[in-house]
Amino acid sequence: MSITELARLSPSVGDDGHALDELLRAVSRYSTNYLATDHPGPTAERSALAAAFAGPLQGGSIDAVAVLDELIVNGEPGLLHSGAPTFLGFVMGGAHPISVATEWLTSIWDQCGALYATSPTASVVEDTVARWLVSMFGLPQQTSVGITSGCAMSNLSGLAAARHAVLDAAGWDVERDGLFGAPVPRVLVSRGCHTTVFRALRLLGMAGQIHLVDTDDQGRMSLPALQESLRTTDGPLIVCGQVGNVDTGSVDPMPEICAAAHDAGGWVHVDAAFGMWAAAGHTVRHQVTGLEFADSWATDAHKWLNVPYDCGLVFCAHPEAHRAALRTTADYLTAAADGARDPADYTPDLSRRARALVLWATLRHLGTDGVADLIDRSCAHAATLASRLSTVPGVRIVNDVVLNQVLVTFDAPGTGPTRAHLDAIVARLQHGGTGWASPTTWRGLPTLRLSVCNWQTTAGDIDACASAIIAAHRATTDHPIHRGEQS
Ligand SMILES: *Cc1c(COP(=O)(O)O)cnc(C)c1O
Repeated sequence: MSITELARLSPSVGDDGHALDELLRAVSRYSTNYLATDHPGPTAERSALAAAFAGPLQGGSIDAVAVLDELIVNGEPGLLHSGAPTFLGFVMGGAHPISVATEWLTSIWDQCGALYATSPTASVVEDTVARWLVSMFGLPQQTSVGITSGCAMSNLSGLAAARHAVLDAAGWDVERDGLFGAPVPRVLVSRGCHTTVFRALRLLGMAGQIHLVDTDDQGRMSLPALQESLRTTDGPLIVCGQVGNVDTGSVDPMPEICAAAHDAGGWVHVDAAFGMWAAAGHTVRHQVTGLEFADSWATDAHKWLNVPYDCGLVFCAHPEAHRAALRTTADYLTAAADGARDPADYTPDLSRRARALVLWATLRHLGTDGVADLIDRSCAHAATLASRLSTVPGVRIVNDVVLNQVLVTFDAPGTGPTRAHLDAIVARLQHGGTGWASPTTWRGLPTLRLSVCNWQTTAGDIDACASAIIAAHRATTDHPIHRGEQS
């Protein structure tokens, strides 16, 4: 029975004191209040947090509402408010209300998202979501899709498919025979690639085959460097590129990389954790031209689509290679018949959350226009933020702001950017909450990383963030923070 029907027939259904209903109502009441309130970043020291949770596990039961209360009271001081519209740290989205509500429903339904047999609804919804996303990103029509816990697992999945395909072409069955004695692939990886790409290659036994390809000042793969590496390559080949550098947001030259790699018989895997979503935008689509020529893609939904943790996606233009690498069978597991989808064929998991439900609901709610607006808006905000900061003496934008990422340096008094000056600015921003951001080192320069990817962020929020960052720079310039003064 639908929620609307339920409310019409019996407004009081659920008021009968069921334990679950009471708990959900309690959390719902709390949620509204929590989400409507501004919170500073984590306020508790680790020792205080740990002490609050240090007790032994008791023997008897404790009332469920009391347990929730204990978690809230003790846990809140250690929360990072990454869902706030003025949070610019790492690359973290918030969560659309529809996505949170659907997560809740997903838990109520508690479907095992492994097989068609374990949840026909999860299976067919996943098929639909796959079709929508392949079309929205402009990928080849036959592209297969897996829903993972995040881009790290998507990189692992895509590269497993790549490993299968290039060794299969060399006459080697890696799923049956493993890697010992296999033809040795060459794996060309942009120096700018994310750490999870390197970990995936390590887990797949290919760490020793990595050849780093140099990048330009924005972190994009250098084509001459790639061509030079390809000149000395024969045999199985995998090329790893990137759409959306985690610092600069820069995008590798995809059409040229794909053409060169394919000429050499290689497979192109792309880490597009957030950059993929530019393909769903209207004003930034051109930044990721040629994305569709790759062979596999890894991306996240918990970043820029703004669904709750965790949700990632892997795409593969060669569904047979995708399934060959990841599919697993057992006599007791009923395989789907008649072309139905077993979600476990496309990721390393078996049992897992039916993540497709949240994706379906969020995409259904937003529509393609809503997604495009979210992406375009974030990028426009990033450009505004960069242009406001760049007018301040001693403040410099280091990257070309092509997507949603902004990298900034700040001159310390009488000198250039220093780590101590940056750390003091970061401490002020993290303490204040508005414009919360974190530092990195970009090509030897201490820089502040700013990322705009929250659905709620408004022009006013961006203005407040810019003011907070400028104020933190000025305050640090006037009164440098000395060790131990941060709080
Ligand atoms: C965030 C990110 C990842 C890792 O994604 P997870 O969702 O944390 O697993 C990989 N690559 C890039 C470029 C990222 O930004």
